[in-house]
Amino acid sequence: HYARFNDFTLITPTASMSAAVHGGRAKCLQRLVRLGLPVPRTVALSYDVVHRIAEGHMPDLPRLLSAFGREPLLSVRPSSMDAEWGGPGAVLNVGMCDARRDALAGTIGEEAATALYLRFVQAYAVDVLRLDPDAFAVPDASASSLAAALQTFEEETDEPFPQEAGVQLAEVLRSMARSWESTSVRLLRQARGAPADAGLGLVVQTMALGLGPGESGSGVVRGMDPATGEHTMNGRYLRQSIFRDALTGTGGPEGALYLAADQRGASLESEAPGIFAELTEFSRICRKRLREEMEIEFSVAGGTLHVLDAVRMQRSSRAAVKAVVDLAEDGIIPREEAILRIEPRALSQLLHRQVDPDARREVILKGIAASPGAATGRLVFSAMAAQTAASQGDACILLRRETTPEDIRGMHVASAIVTERGGMSSHAAVIARGLGLPCIVGAVGSRIDTRERTVTLKDGRVFREGDMVTVDGSAGVALEGAAPLLEPMLDGPFTTLLGWADKVRDIGIRANADTPDDARTAETFLAEGIGLCRTEHMFFEDARLTLMREMIFTDDSKDRAASLERLLPMQRRDFADLFHIMAGRPVCIRLFDLPLHEFLPRDREDQRALADALDLPLSDVVRRVQNMSEFNPMLGMRGVRLGITVPEIYEMQARAIFEATVQASRETGSPVVPEIMIPLVSARREVELVKTRVDAVAAAVKNESGETFEYRLGVMVETPRAALRAGEISDHAAFLSFGTNDLTQMTYGLSRDDAGRFMGAYVAEGVFPEDPFHTLDLDGVGELLLLGAERARENRPDITVSLCGEHGGDPDTIAFCRAAGFDYVSCSPFRVPVARLAAAHLAL
Ligand code: PEP
Ligand code: MG
Repeated sequence: HYARFNDFTLITPTASMSAAVHGGRAKCLQRLVRLGLPVPRTVALSYDVVHRIAEGHMPDLPRLLSAFGREPLLSVRPSSMDAEWGGPGAVLNVGMCDARRDALAGTIGEEAATALYLRFVQAYAVDVLRLDPDAFAVPDASASSLAAALQTFEEETDEPFPQEAGVQLAEVLRSMARSWESTSVRLLRQARGAPADAGLGLVVQTMALGLGPGESGSGVVRGMDPATGEHTMNGRYLRQSIFRDALTGTGGPEGALYLAADQRGASLESEAPGIFAELTEFSRICRKRLREEMEIEFSVAGGTLHVLDAVRMQRSSRAAVKAVVDLAEDGIIPREEAILRIEPRALSQLLHRQVDPDARREVILKGIAASPGAATGRLVFSAMAAQTAASQGDACILLRRETTPEDIRGMHVASAIVTERGGMSSHAAVIARGLGLPCIVGAVGSRIDTRERTVTLKDGRVFREGDMVTVDGSAGVALEGAAPLLEPMLDGPFTTLLGWADKVRDIGIRANADTPDDARTAETFLAEGIGLCRTEHMFFEDARLTLMREMIFTDDSKDRAASLERLLPMQRRDFADLFHIMAGRPVCIRLFDLPLHEFLPRDREDQRALADALDLPLSDVVRRVQNMSEFNPMLGMRGVRLGITVPEIYEMQARAIFEATVQASRETGSPVVPEIMIPLVSARREVELVKTRVDAVAAAVKNESGETFEYRLGVMVETPRAALRAGEISDHAAFLSFGTNDLTQMTYGLSRDDAGRFMGAYVAEGVFPEDPFHTLDLDGVGELLLLGAERARENRPDITVSLCGEHGGDPDTIAFCRAAGFDYVSCSPFRVPVARLAAAHLAL
């Protein structure tokens, strides 16, 4: 039965339409109509009408059909709020029947008319009535195939193929409306962010067939290269075709033309320059008036151009940034909008390392460049081996025949992925791009044996598990050994966008950087300073490690001083380098934090070497190692506790920092003001003791050098007690920096190193919404942050407050810190651009 409401809207320049009622496609088509583009007659059905159709109330179809004149041939396409949510596929050529075929045979030819009818019969049977596709598979598009398909239809449904457009249209609308409301389709779109009650609109449009005499065909056109963002007319056009046929297959089907004339072959531009010129103009109009880079779908019928549809162009992250920057620079959108249109997390895909083009390395595998960037690591052949390598801190390259979901954990910890099989959209390729990892798929050229765990080159050389290789995911090759890599360079639009973001954001962004290399990356990404320099790594080079051990094992303070004396110049060099690279920007150096436990020689050989170095009997060394071992090193002799019990270490570090300060200030001519941070504080007295000693070292260095300098001493808040007692602790601190890694560990009583064992189950059971080491626990740990910041500020209003745990680069954490009035966050250098943009989003 027919509903008596106003059930459809003819799209005219003045019709009242909105995306909230009719969906995005209908709204966009109306804008095209308003811009004067030649859109075939189109009618929109609202969410409400389509919902009623699903419930069995068909609108007034005769009235709808009358909008299209006699003997209409129609397409029906979905129009939801957001095209990303998916929806039923388009159905074309509704209205095809025996009489229509015969009539069309006169204009477009027998063959084309028959093929068109056959295609509709198949689509109607399979997509609309959901009959068995195999039953409708025919060998060709001949008249006998058509007859066979019509015959099958009758056998399967006990009715002849419907000849009235109204009957066909009713079935098409019903089927599309119902499929939208099916549970599986709803769950799928909800997973893509659609609300539970998201509606479906439909658009019914006159077919403008790209078939027949004269220039006829169909295609798509874009005004921007979707990969690079260059402004070039590109797309595909296929003569004697309908709808998106020009796009099937990579590079288009045989005979498809490129849009613009270039050296690659025939193009629409050279074959039909008038139509190309018109398309160029349409593309320009769309960009200007729809304020977006669009992909236009068109058909040409006997030399006349029709615009069927336009959608926002899909694009790479790089092209996305260029698109919005160019739109803003052309005055089409404001800068603020350009900033807001880029999802901060998407930027991380742009930050890839590259193999140094001057590197000469032998290629061991060649394949499809599935995900850009470069990485070096040890070859592993299973996800398990990848995890083992990662747990030992080794970078690894995961090589598999192909990957499956079971490999995910291995892929997460690998530095790059290579598979023997697969294409651009294989599991490995998709996951690698998502993780931002370099990836090669379909690797050939050498014999890969994943069982034997070998790669055999043509010349017989064999690479085995554990061998060093380099993956160049941008070029699609794997190279022998560790090739030199270049850090990512930011291109113009990227830098421009981040520059605009910096002007609007109101929270500082620093980087965590331990080495001069890290500092250089931080510098490239325009971090405002170093928020955390972990000095531990500086002791892990062989020479220094031995010195550290000697120092720890001597009880005699004279011997201890001698070891430290030798470490001092090395540390001074480290710090001077950082000051130089950061050129006047603040550098916050954290005093030694590593558990002493980690320095103990574990195996006999190391213990013997130490015994030799100390000139002690081996048994003595073994006994001391036993005495010093801890059950809970992360809660033991580390951080400020070590600083207080073995004060010489902090004194040496303070001296190295101050001497580097004097040196760098002299060399650069501008004063360096170092920041020194005390880790793992839990009591006021700890700060007081360290401060007294550091002040004394500063006084001594000033005296010796005859120079003056300033410095700032601060406290890392990473124990719950430090947060609770932040008031009194701030008495002696110019700044507080929340270390949310340890603070999370201690707030939950959850080991940072062992939580992986049950975290999966905890998240799956909903005990924790997410892994709190990845996503800051705003309720619990967050409350300590708020409390600590408030108590410190009450006592000392001018105190600087920041966060430097791994969470610092996460947009939600940045939002929390900004709302709490923090001065800055500090995150890994590669997350600095993401953080800069995320912070700008918050301020807009
Ligand atoms: C922290 O605990 O949050 C922190 C930044 O320090 P680390 O990770 O070195 O313990
Ligand atoms: Mg810590």
